[in-house]
Amino acid sequence: MSRKRRAFGVVAAAAAGAALLIAQPALSASAQPNPDSGQAAPARGLYKVLGATNTEQYRQVGQSGVDVLNHSHLGRKASGPGVEFDIVATPEQAATLRSQGYTVNLTGDWAAMLKERSKGDGGQRLAGDFPPGDEKYHTYQEMVDEINKAQSDHPDIAKVSSIGKSHEGRDIPVIKISDNVAQDENEPEVLFTCNMHAREHLTGEMCIRIFNRFTDGYANDPAIKDMVDNREIYIVPMQNPDGIEFDVASGEYQGWRKNRQDQGTDTNRNFDFKWGCCGGSSGNPGAEDYRGPSAASAPEVQAIQKFAESRVVDGKQQIKAHVDFHTFSELVMWPFGWTDNDVAEGMTQEEATRFQTIGKQMADTNGYTPQQLSDLYPTDGTICDYLWGKQRIWSFAFEMYPSGGGIDGFYPPDEKIEPETARNDKAVDILVKAAGEVP
Ligand SMILES: [Zn+2]
Repeated sequence: MSRKRRAFGVVAAAAAGAALLIAQPALSASAQPNPDSGQAAPARGLYKVLGATNTEQYRQVGQSGVDVLNHSHLGRKASGPGVEFDIVATPEQAATLRSQGYTVNLTGDWAAMLKERSKGDGGQRLAGDFPPGDEKYHTYQEMVDEINKAQSDHPDIAKVSSIGKSHEGRDIPVIKISDNVAQDENEPEVLFTCNMHAREHLTGEMCIRIFNRFTDGYANDPAIKDMVDNREIYIVPMQNPDGIEFDVASGEYQGWRKNRQDQGTDTNRNFDFKWGCCGGSSGNPGAEDYRGPSAASAPEVQAIQKFAESRVVDGKQQIKAHVDFHTFSELVMWPFGWTDNDVAEGMTQEEATRFQTIGKQMADTNGYTPQQLSDLYPTDGTICDYLWGKQRIWSFAFEMYPSGGGIDGFYPPDEKIEPETARNDKAVDILVKAAGEVP
């Protein structure tokens, strides 16, 4: 490719610098962002929060209603200086955290940084597409084309269907990959799901890589052939079509997480298991972790749940293992999220140990940090808790590249797609194999 591309770090630095430059003319000298006044801070600022050193404080920050971008690597079981949070917050939320004793430093104007990042590398922008320099990311329609191509190129082992429709009526496609793909054979089934949170575009690319790898590799790679012949692999690349479209369509990244129903529901807090049970989601429709008005109120969640239920044959769940991909923080996580106990109702010591073992095996291959979902603070109504708690599927959540950061964490340039999705090939294979070994 001939067009010039700035290095990732430079883009992030430029974005941060530009944000301040843009913000300045609108503010009087006395109204410069001031940690104490909060007055001149942007409507939504990016902040770094320091000073949380124990579980109670992780919960206080994580459940304060702010948009937590980055989970720190230091879980509750680690000793050390505590956790650094990157959050998006209003000046009022920042002030509240300060009054609770945390150091809360403004690092940028969220809206200005999104605007700056949306320019890409400054080339020609196509309407409805990712910015110049990010074009290799797939829009919803490009993903539909890609999944259909996998089927038409490999009709004997790939079959596309829809698990249901989004709030705005878009299909949520699933691709099944197996030998004798038209038949429901008695083989362990595996599920991969991606891009539930709209702005986490790298995850859609992850699922696209999985289905292309298992279809294109079938003819020549004996290891892939063995997996495809002995498993039924289901992949849902985009669980939130409306949100994904919305995040890109206007020509400016929206930093959008939720679905597009009313003010948006965080579908990963809307699943019908321990929904809203434990302070691990918000009842405020404006919050980024809004759980919705009732369990499974989001059509996208209903579609996933219905699909999982449809794989119960003769009273037995056929799907044995699952990964839901998110960004970012570089983590491999397992249930439960609703409780910070390792062992709980629906999770024996033996099961917890098996989750830890498989999780660590996968983390050994991609360099992510393995931990329980609740290691920082509880979350309720998540897909992983539902798939394990209700369906007894060995369900994991990955937080992909990068390990930390602000807005750039959601929008790495498209050069990162290849290395950062390939990074998970071995972990994916471990899970596919594990599906045949777990009870
Ligand atoms: Zn996510």
